[in-house]
Amino acid sequence: GADTEGSRGRATGVTYEDIGGLDDELELVREMIELPLSEPEVFAHLGIEPPKGVLLHGPPGTGKTLIAKAVANEVDATFITISGPEVLSKYKGESEEKLREVFKEARERSPSIIFFDEIDSIAAKRDDGGDVENRIVGQLLSLMDGLDARGDVVVIGATNRVDSLDPALRRGGRFDREIEIGVPNIAGRREILDVHTRQMPLADDVDIDRLASRTHGFVGADLESLAKEAAMTALRRSRRTGDGVSVSEMTVTRADFESAMASVEP
Ligand code: ATP
Repeated sequence: GADTEGSRGRATGVTYEDIGGLDDELELVREMIELPLSEPEVFAHLGIEPPKGVLLHGPPGTGKTLIAKAVANEVDATFITISGPEVLSKYKGESEEKLREVFKEARERSPSIIFFDEIDSIAAKRDDGGDVENRIVGQLLSLMDGLDARGDVVVIGATNRVDSLDPALRRGGRFDREIEIGVPNIAGRREILDVHTRQMPLADDVDIDRLASRTHGFVGADLESLAKEAAMTALRRSRRTGDGVSVSEMTVTRADFESAMASVEP
């Protein structure tokens, strides 16, 4: 449509290779979303309806958006992002209109994934919110109920506060599948660090296992910052010393990671 907000279009560019840890979670998401979008006839044959909505919940920066983008990319689905605050910021009555537009576009460009970030902000429990929130939740419910059972449009909701969601949204036929995307453990952190250092020229003294063990409490976004900060430290170091190291000889060292550790906090 004429609306240019959010990001849309096929080819999000994110692949499963870009996701560290989360193997089990990804497996669930793929079964619920990828299969219905790519092989809807399997569900029809078995006489079951694929899910219309899947809720990803967990702390910020753990990979919820990344997963949604990767699935969309993998099945070549249109990826449409909206966020609760974006919908809420519309003028009176325009929030519902905005939601209708998004669903219309998703249908027209199916197969599609609508990624609804910070969904709790529009869909807080009705007793928490005023009249406006009621109407927006009501509109979202009716749009989801109106999605046909073929499964070619799926809504992925993301939230950090699953308990504050309107229970009507978590009932059958709406967001009735929930997957927790948690803070990574040491093995997960190791895989995430691998993803974010894959393209870096690491010096031999860098020990990723050790970094993984020292980054308790870091989520994916923190680990990405850590890797970037280490690379920037390497860059600054080579500028400062002006030791004539050529670009192709630059490496990111253990010391660069050490100084990045001092500035990046979970
Ligand atoms: P929010 O609730 O803030 O929207 P989110 O869970 O959707 O958070 P993402 O946007 O997916 O988080 O993650 C932010 C960035 O952090 C990603 O673009 C990616 O670079 C990195 N990241 C997060 N989790 C992972 C992961 N599991 N593997 C690799 N990178 C990750």
